[in-house]
Amino acid sequence: MVRKTLIAGNWKMNGHIEDGVAHAKGVALEVKKAARKDCEVLICPPFTLLMAAKKAIKGSKVQLGAQDCHFDLKGAHTGDISPLMLKDLGCQYVIVGHSERRTDHGETNELIAKKAYSAIEAGLKVIICIGETEKERDENKTIEVCTAQIMGSVPSNSTAQNTVIAYEPVWAIGTGKTPTAEDVEEVHASIRKVIAKKLGRANANKMRILYGGSMKPSNAKELLALEDVDGGLIGGASLKVADFTAIIESSKQ
Ligand code: PEP
Repeated sequence: MVRKTLIAGNWKMNGHIEDGVAHAKGVALEVKKAARKDCEVLICPPFTLLMAAKKAIKGSKVQLGAQDCHFDLKGAHTGDISPLMLKDLGCQYVIVGHSERRTDHGETNELIAKKAYSAIEAGLKVIICIGETEKERDENKTIEVCTAQIMGSVPSNSTAQNTVIAYEPVWAIGTGKTPTAEDVEEVHASIRKVIAKKLGRANANKMRILYGGSMKPSNAKELLALEDVDGGLIGGASLKVADFTAIIESSKQ
């Protein structure tokens, strides 16, 4: 089964207009020069940089995504951004359920499913993040936790075309630690089985499952070569053009 590799950069709460624009332009330029042509590349800057980043990547194949959205399409939600607004702005993707939102904002699987449902209705593709904490891993609950997160946060309108899953062990995010390649493959294969149960085998075979958590040029090749790893969600290393493009170049064909 050939699934198109997706390399996505999550800039988190980093960047002001000037450096954000320079960074987006740098990514677009390097992606144009890159030998690896047939992989999707996505940047997810903070809300404040989306418009400027959109202009900076214009004419390149780099796509634009946001890091979160509200579940309503419009209305009385002070400070929130709706998926329709993101679509209107030119985003193709939105990340939902990142562990930092689950932790910082108490987001539940139920809320994440509502956000993802509504984003899909608005015409966006969603990247739904899941992953276990260190404690859960130590207690051998990784598969159990990821299964519950998929069952609870993947909405009923998800298909392989509109949904991407990102497996991000919480303990690996921003820490420099990563699971072994064997562990990553085991979790990704089990995620695909759970997707099959929830959305059918055809969707499961075609749905992309990204790995995220301290992916960098030195470990990307090994992780991205795994059978059930269809790309990466990159935090820290996406803030350096050279590292982000090196990861793109090490992805499998
Ligand atoms: C992330 O936050 O999605 C992430 C994977 O971060 P990092 O690459 O910095 O671990």
